[in-house]
Amino acid sequence: MPVFPLVESLYAHWRRQLAGASALHEETPPPERLLQAVWQHQRLRRDQLVTLDGQPVRVLHPGFVNREGGPDFRGAVIQFGSGTPRAGDVEVDLRASGWHAHGHDRNPSFRDVILHVIWDQEKATTRPTLALHSVLDAPLSELGLWLEREAAISFPEDLCGKCCAPLSQLTETQTTTLLCEAASVRLQTKAAQLQARARHSGWDQALWEGLFRALGYKHNVWPMQSLAESCNRWGRRPADLLTLQARALGLSGLLPTEPSRTKNATDLYLRRVWDSWWRERDEFADLILPRSIWRLHGLRPANHPQRRLALATHWLAAGNLPARLQRWCADAIAERTLAASLGKTLAVERDEFWTWHWTLRSPKLSKPQALLGEARVADLAVNVILPWLWTRANEGGNATVRGEIERRYFAWPPSEDNSILRLAHQRLLGGRRFPMNTAAMQQGLLQIVRDFCDHSNAICDDCRFPGLVTEWMRKG
Ligand code: SF4
Repeated sequence: MPVFPLVESLYAHWRRQLAGASALHEETPPPERLLQAVWQHQRLRRDQLVTLDGQPVRVLHPGFVNREGGPDFRGAVIQFGSGTPRAGDVEVDLRASGWHAHGHDRNPSFRDVILHVIWDQEKATTRPTLALHSVLDAPLSELGLWLEREAAISFPEDLCGKCCAPLSQLTETQTTTLLCEAASVRLQTKAAQLQARARHSGWDQALWEGLFRALGYKHNVWPMQSLAESCNRWGRRPADLLTLQARALGLSGLLPTEPSRTKNATDLYLRRVWDSWWRERDEFADLILPRSIWRLHGLRPANHPQRRLALATHWLAAGNLPARLQRWCADAIAERTLAASLGKTLAVERDEFWTWHWTLRSPKLSKPQALLGEARVADLAVNVILPWLWTRANEGGNATVRGEIERRYFAWPPSEDNSILRLAHQRLLGGRRFPMNTAAMQQGLLQIVRDFCDHSNAICDDCRFPGLVTEWMRKG
């Protein structure tokens, strides 16, 4: 598999062209759409958020984008100072005066707004107000392109897109090249995000946050992020595995309130966890998440956050995961053994409880189940580990290591299919048989969705992608 240059590719050039018209400057306020994207993706120095009247703000969940009338985000969970976390809506406006000017004060749909997010410091409205200007995690100019392209819009449901016809004219090699160039952009995007976090909290912490987020899957990213942000306090001090599992489960709010008094394995484990957690609970009380922040409905048992936290505590207890990943990066590894070798690096020992139970309440399984499966290893590789290693090598100016990580990224075997990939395959490639035989090609398809489909609609209004592909074909 060829290595695609990560800086000057055709796809990267197209993307820069798109960004040119909307380049952002520090002196001028950004468009409101960008502020919403900043809030949605929490591209903020999240440990430094303070309302205009001086209350510290802890964002436990930024809420879900609301595409209907009413506030911009529904169902956020926010803690002000040392108060109990509150659930409610978030409205994003450029200015505090927008609250009255847009009639929110008279509109009952805005009754549950618990936080008004604005751009710059100014006089607050009657409710808690947070200005973003001085707490972005990167300069506006740097954030602009990423956020413009990543701002998620719900996926349209339709058949073939307008790009399907020009894409069908490409040879298999041309389509592969295009997807891999888009994948290069995706790798750099994820790397830049990890680098931005590392600037504020260090490389190891950026890695932990990336891993926890990836273990949260799409519905539980924010509670996992919150736990990762506080793991400096609860996860790094020397502690045995059971103590760390007790802390993680206690802090998550997912520990059942009362273990029953039976003597089966589940209750015995639960009692040991409770005994440990009760001794430390007061020390960590300010970090405990409300159970309601988790989305558990419809989850497969193997993806339950209790189980994912158990896995993360094994890594924390070992205490050397970042160093192990660096060693894996330095080892010479053949393409066909890449996934297996990373799987071995991330593997954890059999857990006396979690190897035999899906969740804290599930009965004993008839066969042992590993805490980490192959599909999850692939997701962690392309979304977190390779971007983290790449951005470290890039920042250190180590072109050899960077090239080796790129080789691994483009050679990685494909991940599990998902609904976004399936729909993209149908819309862009007309469902035709096309060998998506690497994870990078899947990542490239996802990047095109983020860059183009998410900024158009079900009938591809104003999408520039078909025209760009046609022009590329014409030039040969
Ligand atoms: S929105 Fe653009 S990239 Fe997406 S399917 Fe339509 S034409 Fe293709």
